[in-house]
Amino acid sequence: MAVLLTGGAGYIGSHTALCILNAGQDVVVLDNLSNASPEALRRVSELTGKDVPLFVGDCADKDALNRVFDQYKIDQVIHFAGLKAVGESVAQPLRYYRNNLDATLTLCEVMQAHQCFDLVFSSSATVYGTIQEMPLRETFPLGCTNPYGWTKFMSEQILRDLSHADERFHVVLLRYFNPVGAHESGRIGEDPSGIPNNLMPFICQVVSGRRKELSVFGNDYPTRDGTGVRDYIHVMDLAEGHLAALAYAREHAGTEVFNLGTGVGYSVLELVHAFEEVNGVRVPYRVTPRRPGDIATCYADPAKATNLLHWEAKRSLADMCRDAWNWQKNNPNGYHEAQ
Ligand code: NAD
Ligand code: UDP
Repeated sequence: MAVLLTGGAGYIGSHTALCILNAGQDVVVLDNLSNASPEALRRVSELTGKDVPLFVGDCADKDALNRVFDQYKIDQVIHFAGLKAVGESVAQPLRYYRNNLDATLTLCEVMQAHQCFDLVFSSSATVYGTIQEMPLRETFPLGCTNPYGWTKFMSEQILRDLSHADERFHVVLLRYFNPVGAHESGRIGEDPSGIPNNLMPFICQVVSGRRKELSVFGNDYPTRDGTGVRDYIHVMDLAEGHLAALAYAREHAGTEVFNLGTGVGYSVLELVHAFEEVNGVRVPYRVTPRRPGDIATCYADPAKATNLLHWEAKRSLADMCRDAWNWQKNNPNGYHEAQ
């Protein structure tokens, strides 16, 4: 029996693959490599001493998925595959809806045909839209502000409807907050293509000299120091959350949704200062106008995951900063020039 990870060569998928393998389960990956390198999985294999079969193919391609299910006995699936850049989704909505929704629909059809019913889905805190009441709880009303968010919202709805219609399905929706950091080995990590959109990879590239300075998007928010507050979560904590979700899915029919966050928010400047202190470096920055669409504050109430998944984030902000820099320092060009 193996767990299929769609999009498993990517940032969160590769860390989750490592956790699952270390827990003694087998994994198989389907990834079209649109935003990933096979080198990530080669390194997961090196770190775990286990095979990570990679099928290079699209999750919206039924034949490609059928080949995986025909060749391996898959009993659970984690569906990471998707495009994830918010700004790009605004500029290219059709590409985002097509990619992310086709992938979800096709995967469900193929799972049903192969009698595989346990599915963990990568959703996002972005489905809470512009709600101002913090911490965010799973019961809050949803609404999105960009096409990427809507693809998560719609995929959640598709999966709920499916598990309602076919009671053999066991679905777990995971709403991630802000994943950062890397495996402590520094061998796998986040490898954004082009200019990073997200704060932590941008800081790493500034410190490594690839970018001149960080733009802090606004210091006039109603927060402790005026900069935006987010719930950063170490990617290894997040990966362990997937193990807990797989265990939960095994036992529970229907659809259940969980926030995966720490419950604690840090501001941009708090993250910058933690990074400087932990790593003994300087992060040159300049305050610039707010980024359109950003909200002031966003953090999770992770109590439901604690109570039902028996999971909680353990790693500190210092761990996140140390591991992010350790990865960047050892791999200044990500997986390019891999050895
Ligand atoms: P990532 O881009 O590193 O990983 C996604 C992977 O999916 C990539 O390897 C890409 O090549 C692959 N992929 C995309 N479309 C595909 C398709 N049609 N068929 C096969 N493979 C495809 O991103 P990540 O940060 O690891 O995110 C994983 C999932 O978690 C995504 O669904 C993302 O939307 C979601 N998520 C990420 C964050 C975050 O901040 N990183 C936050 C919330 C939710
Ligand atoms: N941010 C910033 N400069 C950057 C990137 C991000 O000041 O170059 C801020 C952003 O305004 C937000 C926080 O950092 O307050 C986290 O942004 P990120 O894009 O990492 O995550 P998200 O917007 O998805 O929460």
